[in-house]
Amino acid sequence: MAVDITTDLKKVRNIGIMAHIDAGKTTTTERILFYTGITYKIGEVHEGAAVMDWMEQEQERGITITSAATTCWWKDHQINIIDTPGHVDFTAEVERSLRVLDGAVAVYDGVAGVEPQTMTVWRQANKYSVPRMCFVNKLDRTGADFFRCVDMMVERLNSTPLVLQLPIGNEADFIGVVDLVGMRALTWRGETTMGEDYEVEEIPAELAAQAEEYREKLLETLAEADDDVMEKYLEGEELSVEELEAGIRRATLADKLNPVLCGTAFKNKGVQPLLDAVVKYLPSPIDVEGITGHAVNDEEKEIVRKPSDDEPFSGLAYKIAADPHLGKLIYVRVYSGKLEAGTSVLNSVTGRKERIGKVYQMHANKREEIGSVGAGQIVAVMGLKDTKTGHTLCDASNPVILESMTFPAPVIEVA
Ligand code: GDP
Repeated sequence: MAVDITTDLKKVRNIGIMAHIDAGKTTTTERILFYTGITYKIGEVHEGAAVMDWMEQEQERGITITSAATTCWWKDHQINIIDTPGHVDFTAEVERSLRVLDGAVAVYDGVAGVEPQTMTVWRQANKYSVPRMCFVNKLDRTGADFFRCVDMMVERLNSTPLVLQLPIGNEADFIGVVDLVGMRALTWRGETTMGEDYEVEEIPAELAAQAEEYREKLLETLAEADDDVMEKYLEGEELSVEELEAGIRRATLADKLNPVLCGTAFKNKGVQPLLDAVVKYLPSPIDVEGITGHAVNDEEKEIVRKPSDDEPFSGLAYKIAADPHLGKLIYVRVYSGKLEAGTSVLNSVTGRKERIGKVYQMHANKREEIGSVGAGQIVAVMGLKDTKTGHTLCDASNPVILESMTFPAPVIEVA
């Protein structure tokens, strides 16, 4: 039965994972789907093992695991992972995906550091001021160097990394991270099995001085990017964990810096803190003020659609995919209003009305048929005949043609 999805938009994250080929995008995504697969979704317990079995089958058949958008849940937040191609050949596709996501995680190989394809995608993301976090992966590999990778972010990407974690041990001895916000250690000893959580410990004595040094750097960098933190910092006030997190979120959303975390996706170390950080620091659809479009017959006439179900419907078709079971699917990001199965909408680019057939939310191991979804959501739609990538779908009585998103400095409520 089709369900209507109404979600508290504050609890939605539309994210992309960007990486140079081989840095570990697929592995990190798999682990995210695994961990989110075993968490609770409004009273329903998902079987993590089932998710993994399914992924193994898919790999055997050579099918990519993630669809153009995969929905999962983490600690009562809905995370939509939008596929962001890593290969330079897909530059246009990257641009399109960057328009529909609200934030991104860049995954780096801890040995190779910042590689050319990441530089290309990073520059594209700069254009749209997409809030981004970094995950330095593969710290278990021989030659991995977290600090060199952070230096490369400055040199090659001209970014402002905000180091939130320090590795504990390196290469084969990498066992965990120092959490510089909470000033504690999170460890995974030995070979972890899927589903094994981390232990919270005191910061190891031999890392105490380094942790102090990097905590001070964190405060300095954050103070430079955020006035509230600066005020407290200058007055020598201790910032609570909540105040620090709120400051990191404001500065990340304003695209002033990039929080950096680390781990090894392959060995399941670091992925759960990464998910926590996605929820804490990356934007929800309502952190974006609205999407600007223009009138159908007048490019000069600006129209802004706000991320609210009460606005007229507008959405962007950003990817066409062939599903082995369903046939042609068009992935649509809903920016405003509601998208309802069985209704008719206007394709404002072709000027023709289109009937919305079935609507699906895609998960790692199943798809869910949906009656309607609201603003901020990403769904796969069947039945659109003349809609192509980049076309706008909208309420026929309130037509609009959407343009690329901008991320103005948002006003954040601190709970
Ligand atoms: P993608 O091309 O970015 O999607 O990279 P993959 O996720 O396919 O990973 C590329 C290779 O690196 C695969 O053989 C993975 O098993 C391996 N890999 C991924 N993460 C890690 C890690 O944390 N440590 C190590 N040693 N290998 C990893």
